[in-house]
Amino acid sequence: MVFYIEPEDALKLIEVLGGEEARRVAALLMENPEVSDMEIAEMLQMDIKQVRKVLHRLLELSLVTYVVSYDKENARRVFRWRIHTDQLVSSVRGQVVRIVERLKMIKDFYSQNQVYWCGKSTCRKLDFSSAVDHFFKCPTCGGQLEPFDPRELLEAVDEKIEQLQRFLR
Ligand SMILES: [Zn+2]
Repeated sequence: MVFYIEPEDALKLIEVLGGEEARRVAALLMENPEVSDMEIAEMLQMDIKQVRKVLHRLLELSLVTYVVSYDKENARRVFRWRIHTDQLVSSVRGQVVRIVERLKMIKDFYSQNQVYWCGKSTCRKLDFSSAVDHFFKCPTCGGQLEPFDPRELLEAVDEKIEQLQRFLR
């Protein structure tokens, strides 16, 4: 099997995109190609509905395919799943590129605009002209609007961008 990125990195990305359970299912599929959803549920001690939900999510990301066979004994169709590490790179890469772009837009916005905020996490931040319109009172809670210091936010965004860009090299 050829990996363009290390399997461990691929799994980290799958976790970012699909959560912890997607990571577990993906790891299992890497080791055991063509297992059925029932077998996955049993091997991971996971609820079958949850397994199907995760497989559906991986299917949306074009990371898995399935073959259908017929189980005569139990008179039912069996879906056997396979993970595709070649697709993994292009599919996941596109998503990472989009996330990085979005983060850069957030960064640009906060670097170029002074934003005003009352400090409550449930209230939104306003740009200067909206703050003037509201006489520097929060339109939601009525609190005083103060200039928002974006340094901490920008540091967190930078860190996230750096983490994600490691996957794009
Ligand atoms: Zn407020």
